Amino acid sequence: MSDFSLMIHGGAGAVREPERFEGALRRIITRGAEVLASDGAALEAVTLCVQLLEDDPLFNAGFGSVLNAQGIAECDAAIMDGRTLSAGAVAGVGCIKNPILLARAIMEKSDHVFLIAPGAEEFARAQGVCCVPASYFQTQERLAQLARAKERSAAALDHDAEATKKLGTVGAVARDKKGNLAAATSTGGMTNKSFGRVGDSAVIGAGVFADNASCAVSCTGVGEHFLRMSPARTVAFLIEDLAMDTKKATDEAQRRLETKSKALAE
Ligand code: ASP
Repeated sequence: MSDFSLMIHGGAGAVREPERFEGALRRIITRGAEVLASDGAALEAVTLCVQLLEDDPLFNAGFGSVLNAQGIAECDAAIMDGRTLSAGAVAGVGCIKNPILLARAIMEKSDHVFLIAPGAEEFARAQGVCCVPASYFQTQERLAQLARAKERSAAALDHDAEATKKLGTVGAVARDKKGNLAAATSTGGMTNKSFGRVGDSAVIGAGVFADNASCAVSCTGVGEHFLRMSPARTVAFLIEDLAMDTKKATDEAQRRLETKSKALAE
């Protein structure tokens, strides 16, 4: 077993420009690994990785967030500390530069786990979390992507075939040298989504979960399925309660997700 471990993701789906994505992911995971190598906490490593992913327009989170049907970004993010089971989550915010930093502030500086748009934004201002105008997210690329989705009258995953590039939800999971786990997920959700729609990424147990007793998980995929099946919590349950290894547990959680989602579609 190595001293520490760290995994990050930039969303599911096909990658059209793998070199650019791999380069960005490698650069960011290296920064996170430096934190862990110098005895930093898993929580610090996942926060830093997701913050850097949010700042990179290649990914659908923070600056690169996709736009909803009204042409505005509504970001969701969550973070969980596996050592204490503390968690912070935020949904539907349209003026926060780094939603993961707001989720972390909610975890550490409020009495709550989950705050949503205007209340979350007011909390952010009170805590000095960096706010930006809505136009920060309305890049040419995102406006064009929204126009294409509107033509097809569909809400689309950022990495659907239509997209000219893969730009996905982001996440990070880590185990530090002390054995503590942490997980973080951040997203702009789905292009052309309804105003007020919240996916799984900000929901503890659905798109993110961490518990030292089992594992740290960050999910990506169609949030409506993940919300119904709580796959992140399912993986933890299978590991802790049924003593499955990580691979078996994730395969089983995915199998359950796919089987039940299929039934729902019928
Ligand atoms: N899970 C995200 C959502 O539904 C989308 C994604 O993973 O790309 O908001």
